[in-house]
Amino acid sequence: MGSRAAEQRQEARQLAARLSADGVRNVALTWVDNAGIARVKTVPAERLAAAAERGVGMSPVFDVFTSDDAITASEHLGGPDGDLRLFPDLDRVTSLAAQPGWAWAPADRYDQLGLPHPACQRQFARRMTERAAAAGLELRMGFETEWVVTRAPAGHPAPTGADEPLDYPCAGPAYGMTRVVELSDYLRDVTEALSVQGIDVLQLHPEYAPGQFEVTTAPGDPVRAADDVVLVRETIRAVSVRHGLRASFAPSVVAGQVGNGCHLHLSLYRDGTSLHRTPDAAWGLAPDAAAFLGGVLAALPALLAIGCPSPASYLRLQPSHWAGVYQCWGVENREAALRLITGAPDDPDGGHAEVKTFDAAANPYLAVGAVIAAGLHGIESATQLPQPQTGDPGVLGVRERARRGIVRLPATLTEAADRLEKSAPLYEAMGEVLHGAVLAVRRAEEAHFAESEDDAIAAATRWRW
Ligand code: GLU
Ligand code: MG
Repeated sequence: MGSRAAEQRQEARQLAARLSADGVRNVALTWVDNAGIARVKTVPAERLAAAAERGVGMSPVFDVFTSDDAITASEHLGGPDGDLRLFPDLDRVTSLAAQPGWAWAPADRYDQLGLPHPACQRQFARRMTERAAAAGLELRMGFETEWVVTRAPAGHPAPTGADEPLDYPCAGPAYGMTRVVELSDYLRDVTEALSVQGIDVLQLHPEYAPGQFEVTTAPGDPVRAADDVVLVRETIRAVSVRHGLRASFAPSVVAGQVGNGCHLHLSLYRDGTSLHRTPDAAWGLAPDAAAFLGGVLAALPALLAIGCPSPASYLRLQPSHWAGVYQCWGVENREAALRLITGAPDDPDGGHAEVKTFDAAANPYLAVGAVIAAGLHGIESATQLPQPQTGDPGVLGVRERARRGIVRLPATLTEAADRLEKSAPLYEAMGEVLHGAVLAVRRAEEAHFAESEDDAIAAATRWRW
């Protein structure tokens, strides 16, 4: 034990020395709060080894921060007392291509005695990954990142006000090559920055809404997927700033328009073999994979309080906007909340599923952890996958939807939070402290925007994530 600690100290010192030699001055240690905002403490590069050994202080009150930086309280958290230690994950220290002189590392949170903080979202994600591993399951996950880019008025790199008009730097059509031509330097720099930071970019393309783009990255271990989406977002933000642009990852940039999703892709493996490639099984799904997906589908109303955590999320969640607002699944159905992707039959890793409903206001660590918890509960309770749906449930009449058993997912944060409050599997998985803190933040967000018009909610949250 003592020699392992000494080894780690030595590794941390060598890493700090390498960073300093590479011109890195500061290391940003991020963690994501329950409102989905990446909060940070930074240390000079030469302090990295000390930070890895003793942690960096940060108040536990951030667990009950809301997206407007107000502070609420839960039964266990809130108020000025106490301190936590942020421990950088040295395996993920990354020099930031668009922030010369800076490096980044995601952090885990412990108390001052060195015990895991019960509300640490990253450790929750790891616990759930380990729980799956104990059941012989390996999960590979990845988030899609959608964002809307606008021009920052000269001299105003930061937004100046809620009613500031949006000035798009590209005018080309949805999915059109024109947008790529108009922003080719910017998009090249985004791709390059991500690549040199070790992010495996799969695709980048213009999306539907004005100024909207999407990047998809390779899947990995669930904690890695959550770390990656934080790094991807901050990198896009940094490249945007360098181009005099701004990036909005908000669920609803303009109320009424197609919003930004942050879809979560997942695939299941046992002993290195995909459970989406089972011969003679319906849709190739091994029984455990079908039950896991059934569990996720069944838990979606409660999961929305994790994956769609802001009142702004519910501006995005409109039928026929590809946001997956009905509790159903379908094979390659982009209007189903859970889309099954079968992939090329000769691709052993081609099969996976996509939770379409989630957005980037979600804490990605909570999102992966809660989805795993729901899926494992599906396996434990032998949940069946219902029949898949084709077509857009939004264009069916109410009676036809009822006949097919298709239910609308919560249309408000209040409803989703009520479902999370009552979810026994998610309460058990998250533990009382984390579950209580998440709910307190959801209730505070609801109260804050209770009297606001849609436009005001979109404007107030446009630049928060
Ligand atoms: N922008 C859509 C959303 O709000 C998703 C579009 C797509 O299918 O990629 O989730
Ligand atoms: Mg998309």
